[in-house]
Amino acid sequence: MAEYANIIVDISHEKLDKTFQYRIPERLKAVLKEGMLVSVPFGSRRMRGYVMELTDVPEYEVDKIKEILDIVEKGVAIESQMIALAAWIRKNYGGTMNHALKTVLPVREKKKKLEQKTVRLLLAPEEAEKKLAEYKRKHSVARARLLEALIAQGELDYRVITHKLNVTGTVIRALETSGVAAVDSRQKYRNPVEHFKQNGYHKILNEEQKKVVSEILGDYDAGIRKTYLLKGVTGSGKTEVYMELIDHVRRQGRQAIVLIPEIALTYQTVMRFYNRFGDRVSIMNSRLSPGERYDQRLRAENGEIDIMIGPRSALFTPFPNLGLIIIDEEHETSYKSDTVPRYHARETAIMRAKMSGGSVVLGSATPSVDSYYKAECGEYRLLELKHRVMEKPLPVCEIIDLREELRRGNRSILSDRLAEQLEDRLKKHQQAMLFINRRGLAGFVSCRACGHVIKCPHCDVSLSQHKDGRLVCHYCGYEEAMPPSCPSCSSNYIGGFKAGTQKIEEIVKKRFPQARVLRMDLDTTKSKEGHQQILSAFANQEADILIGTQMIVKGHDFPNVTLVGILAADMSLYVSDFHGPERTFELLTQAAGRAGRGEIPGNVVIQTYTPDHYSITAASRQDYEAFYRQEMEYRKMLYYPPVWNLLVVFFASEDERSAFAAAAASMKKIEEKRASGKEKLVPVGPSDASIAKISDVYKKVIYIKAEKYSVLVELKDVLEEFMRDNRAFLNVTVQFDFNPVNSF
Ligand code: ADP
Ligand code: ZN
Ligand code: ZN
Repeated sequence: MAEYANIIVDISHEKLDKTFQYRIPERLKAVLKEGMLVSVPFGSRRMRGYVMELTDVPEYEVDKIKEILDIVEKGVAIESQMIALAAWIRKNYGGTMNHALKTVLPVREKKKKLEQKTVRLLLAPEEAEKKLAEYKRKHSVARARLLEALIAQGELDYRVITHKLNVTGTVIRALETSGVAAVDSRQKYRNPVEHFKQNGYHKILNEEQKKVVSEILGDYDAGIRKTYLLKGVTGSGKTEVYMELIDHVRRQGRQAIVLIPEIALTYQTVMRFYNRFGDRVSIMNSRLSPGERYDQRLRAENGEIDIMIGPRSALFTPFPNLGLIIIDEEHETSYKSDTVPRYHARETAIMRAKMSGGSVVLGSATPSVDSYYKAECGEYRLLELKHRVMEKPLPVCEIIDLREELRRGNRSILSDRLAEQLEDRLKKHQQAMLFINRRGLAGFVSCRACGHVIKCPHCDVSLSQHKDGRLVCHYCGYEEAMPPSCPSCSSNYIGGFKAGTQKIEEIVKKRFPQARVLRMDLDTTKSKEGHQQILSAFANQEADILIGTQMIVKGHDFPNVTLVGILAADMSLYVSDFHGPERTFELLTQAAGRAGRGEIPGNVVIQTYTPDHYSITAASRQDYEAFYRQEMEYRKMLYYPPVWNLLVVFFASEDERSAFAAAAASMKKIEEKRASGKEKLVPVGPSDASIAKISDVYKKVIYIKAEKYSVLVELKDVLEEFMRDNRAFLNVTVQFDFNPVNSF
């Protein structure tokens, strides 16, 4: 049991960067936990503070450390809880307190109330059904979809229709002019999900679901708070489980937050929560204006709502008595912030739940290796849903060896098998999706004849081809020249692996001139509505083939899709960081899940140069366990997370020499620390960041592996102070990324 507690004292905002250490009195040792609110002596006063950390290491003279007075039973204003959370973020992920506060607290921005438009059904039920039948007969798919929703709801928010129902303004106008519906507009309180009718209806859970719910609620009612990892195949009914848990928590007067990646936050999902909980639910997404976001926070603070659904930032909804946080698709990398502070929503959610006395449920069909490992170690509790609710067969998966194709003289990006299947679907008027992974464009070098990939001999990540032709490791800076032929089979088919969506579109159109082809990538989705328009068009069967990057893999259900082709599975395998196999497994499993969601079973064709790689074979069998075992072998061997922890330190400057000098000097500091301590620590670098220069700013990186996270936090503090006090490096900024999820 720890002797001391580091406490953030609720004084003025300026001093919040600092924690103060107090001794834990004997009587509190067994009960005091991180996140608890305590009262402490501060100067001559008695103050409240949050416990940030328990430790045995005294920070100053033991005699001078004062004792905690007591645990404060009643919570305090939500704002000070959020400030304490900001302090925790700043300590564990770096950046300034100002950055951290901006992350957790709302921007106090006064915006005038917006005009809101709604669409209302004008027809009587019978007439409406007739009209619906007519639309269906005429194959007016979008009109039918809108009318169907109107029949169910009576009235719908205009933006919900255009954003979530994938129906355009033109279609709404068509219904308006033909007297089917009316568009009303009025000034109103901003609530992004009103005008749904609540029917309170919910499914009766099956045995598997019931078991999961009773395990979690059994703990909950016994006052036990934990983090649960719910592993359940897609369609196993995880969302129903979440709703049941929320219902329970809500009945006790507490609130819940549901995190869902923005890209998966579809109309269907929101609708399910709304049907059950009515206007006690709100959503947050990037389309809301700052004013609307602010309103949502106010509504949460005032007790008008008790369920918030949204991406990462919804975690900071200021609910006064938060009982449950759910993170769906917990493996998603979007839960890690890519700007300072680079916090992970998963760990931050666990801290927030600790502070508010709540539980956390992480859900996924393909859990992150990190979470699964934590479940294995007993830090999280693993619960499983092994069966689909409606036993739809999994799609049939084939792996095509592209080396074999080349040997047979097929040099195209489409294997014979995939081309044959595409032909077949075009004939049957079924739809197909072709998926290419953009992540890989960082430029690894591979052999198309044998599949050999050139890797760093020290780090086992692929080398990246730089503009001048050198091959460079982004972890350690190792370099070599581009070989003239394959080091493994001597063939000349060696080079950078490049194929963009546009090129593929050309090839497909040439090969199948009769096919209607849509392409979805960063170029075609630049405009705000581009993304939705393409998905609507494909959902309305205005195209036969959809070609796209990972954007097309998530969230949307296209029942007429019976073929998914993955053009080059290897592209995510050789991203220049150690997550390659994990991302590949996730992407392939999810892409495969797009096929055969309707009545007709689907096929998946995975094209690859490395058909024997475990991430590819395991994904083709949807075998998570097999993937995980192999992956952990590799992580253990190289001390990558989750076995150890990894910290990336960036040094950025317009002056390349300063950036390098700062990195080199910091490296010395780290080496000193390593030499003096007994902590296990492996620093590597400095080297160029993967994009070594962005708009004239040079970036250098150091990687540090350490067994303990806390050792990395200490190093961060040392380096922050070193950089702040060293006048020579005034023009260099330093940033930290703990356990990164993307490559640099
Ligand atoms: P997941 O979130 O795991 O992908 P969902 O909760 O979305 O799964 O469930 C998949 C489908 O099965 C949904 O259409 C849902 O309404 C339905 N469903 C879930 N649980 C039940 C149940 N107990 N009885 C009937 N249908 C269910
Ligand atoms: Zn070769
Ligand atoms: Zn290396």
